[in-house]
Amino acid sequence: MAALSSDKPQDQPKEKTLSSFGRFWQRFRKQRLAIVALLFLLLLSFVSIFRDQLMPFTKDQADFFSTFCQPSFADNSDVFTCQNPEEHILGTDELGRDAYSRLIYGTRISMQASLLGVAIAMIVGLPIGLLAGFIGGRFDRAVMWIVDIIFSLPGILIAFGVIAVLGNGLLNAMIAVGIVLSTRFSRLARGIVLAEREELYVDGARVGGLPTRTIIFKHILPNIAPPLIVQTSLLFGAVILIEAGLSFLGVGVPVSEPSWGRMLADSRSLLSTNPFLSIPPGVAIALTVLAWNVLGDGLRDALGRDITNNQLTTVNSSKQETTASKKPSHIDSRTARNAALILENIEVRFPSPRGEDVVILNNVSYAVMPGETLGIVGESGSGKSMSVMASMGIIPSPGQVSAGTVRLGQKSLTGMPESELETLRGKEIAMIFQEPIASLNPALTVGQQLIQPMQKHLGLNKTEAWDRATDLLRQVRIPEPERRMDEYPHQFSGGMAQRVGIARALSCNPSVLIADEPTTALDVTVQGQIIDLLKDLQKDLGLAIVFITHDLGVIAEVADRIAVMYAGEVIETGDVHTVLTNPRHPYTKALLETLPHHGVSGQRLPVIEGLVPPPTNWPTGCRFHPRCHFATETCSNGADLSLKPVQTGTKLDDRDHYSACIRVEEIDFG
Ligand code: SF4
Repeated sequence: MAALSSDKPQDQPKEKTLSSFGRFWQRFRKQRLAIVALLFLLLLSFVSIFRDQLMPFTKDQADFFSTFCQPSFADNSDVFTCQNPEEHILGTDELGRDAYSRLIYGTRISMQASLLGVAIAMIVGLPIGLLAGFIGGRFDRAVMWIVDIIFSLPGILIAFGVIAVLGNGLLNAMIAVGIVLSTRFSRLARGIVLAEREELYVDGARVGGLPTRTIIFKHILPNIAPPLIVQTSLLFGAVILIEAGLSFLGVGVPVSEPSWGRMLADSRSLLSTNPFLSIPPGVAIALTVLAWNVLGDGLRDALGRDITNNQLTTVNSSKQETTASKKPSHIDSRTARNAALILENIEVRFPSPRGEDVVILNNVSYAVMPGETLGIVGESGSGKSMSVMASMGIIPSPGQVSAGTVRLGQKSLTGMPESELETLRGKEIAMIFQEPIASLNPALTVGQQLIQPMQKHLGLNKTEAWDRATDLLRQVRIPEPERRMDEYPHQFSGGMAQRVGIARALSCNPSVLIADEPTTALDVTVQGQIIDLLKDLQKDLGLAIVFITHDLGVIAEVADRIAVMYAGEVIETGDVHTVLTNPRHPYTKALLETLPHHGVSGQRLPVIEGLVPPPTNWPTGCRFHPRCHFATETCSNGADLSLKPVQTGTKLDDRDHYSACIRVEEIDFG
């Protein structure tokens, strides 16, 4: 393997070396009000736990010589029914029960109620929202229809309905409250996951073959936790208010249990004789709700950066339900038999808002042999990435492979159920991405992300997987791999993160590696190192590599064969040396002319005029004809534009050289 030197881990500022919690705490501790609110809530928790030790009297202990006492700090001289005012700091009720003791007793009920209500809301609402957002489609629409109906009904009506069925009591009341509030979690989680599922790190987890539940709960959930935490803290306050309201109306906790709401209800009838009795529970409710809301605001501000980072992309299970085309492709039978990966006549469609399907890929065929690199090149919008997504079954929703076949070795992936595809992704076919840091989960350490595929696909236990992952980091030349296993993706430079991506892709010994513009986001020096690394690994492991790029210079360096794509079609393919030295399609020729070394000093670099047309507006006939200098009328009137062998004179130019240009034999490619 070539030695790599310059891509050393960079010294990171101290802020960047903090863990996620460290960064959160650094921001949170600057918010004094939120700290006060947190301390107040911790105090309430302490009171709830040590309630029995803190109560000077039991909740029902009556002192008939001390009824209607005002608080001990007030003047009780004219309250002739109160003989021991100094024992009752917050006064007594009509039975001489100590208001302070009952307030402390009610603290635990209020805390229990809020915990129960929020836990039920979360347990019911969160999985529904996560699944609806991740799966999408009809399931999402059906679930959100039900959620919207519940959300639109007055919550108190639903709560009364549930309590009428289940009966009074704290647990039943909180089940009712939890069901009503679960819609808040569902809607929030679904909205965030809709965006999050489009993130590159989710693609990374999918192509690692991780099952849907692992991706949702171990990869997506940690990244959407911040807004959910904020929502949770706000709901704690809401539940305390609702419990107090239900108890006030007589449908919450039993009469014998002095919750704060129940104490408020009881004090109503004593407003004329001892109005102070309503103040302690009222203030306790108000302060607790305020504390939860202030804490929620503080958490939102402290987690704010993470919340706003939640923008992302969807990967639906590409259904791979195809009507496999019977049309023969240009790939010969020997190649077809021995290929590590082969796509034949692949068509990908997306439904459009107007109801017609838009065809994104048309009749795309290519194959890569074991130990070989196939370079796929073309401008943005040519369909390069979509073709490899089709081969991995990760076409973004709602698109699907509508025709053609994909084979991985001897296994046909066409029509294979998602559960079986999951067993192949990451194990037999793996992928590395253009943006190395974005393709790693920011909430998990590099070590955690590396061991998951190995535990799933290779059945290794955690220690074995950890050791192997450390070896892999060493193999991709990451210095101090033991230490770096515990670091987060943001602590890696772009080149180092791409090495992690390569280590993850190779962790389960795949036979095919798809590299989707793996060097585009890197500087030239690091680009060269990553290319050298891939070539060395290919030599050692016998990998078949599909290398996507828009850079013909990179293709010349890494590829054995090339497929040039334009507007969703392969327009020229063959041995890389043959195609680059003897291009036989005007588009390939034009791409080559844009390379910097074709430029003349002092003159602007040539460009291909115009843009790749969008799939909704593909020209008829040859899709390149509006930009082609050699176009004639025939080019746009429906001539046969399938790939045909290239001939020079009467000789086949190369066994593998094909072009889709109908004027290939007439044009002087100079
Ligand atoms: S078919 Fe016609 S328009 Fe298309 S590349 Fe060939 S010459 Fe140009």
